[in-house]
Amino acid sequence: METVGATGVWTRETAVGEKRDLWSAMKRGFRGRCPRCGEGKLFRAFLKTANNCSVCGLDFTPHRADDLPAYLVIVIVGHIVVPLALWIETSYSPGVWLQLSIYLPLTFVLSLALLQPVKGAVVGLQWALRMHGFDENSPGETSPG
Ligand SMILES: [Zn+2]
Repeated sequence: METVGATGVWTRETAVGEKRDLWSAMKRGFRGRCPRCGEGKLFRAFLKTANNCSVCGLDFTPHRADDLPAYLVIVIVGHIVVPLALWIETSYSPGVWLQLSIYLPLTFVLSLALLQPVKGAVVGLQWALRMHGFDENSPGETSPG
């Protein structure tokens, strides 16, 4: 069962709640900040989100980013490295070992650099869209019914 609001009574206010701007929440998450206040740190380790915001107290535990950040990073990095590889091949066609010594480290570094910001943006998106119980009125409530 899902509770509605603090009193358990459904009203238009409890259904609508505060206004959440999708893009600012995603930008804040991308910078590793709390999607609600933009101040507190979202991560306590590389890909581990903190339990809650140290500034506004928003509960981060209900988010379920799962594999989406990794899929998005693969898509983004693929759209950078593959066109670059095709352009270098058609323009200069250097040796295979030279190409691999560029593309493999580039792919590795770009993927590592993007994973945390993309995960932060996904958490921001989930918070802004109130996805999967990500609501400070019912912290941690994720039971599927
Ligand atoms: Zn906050």
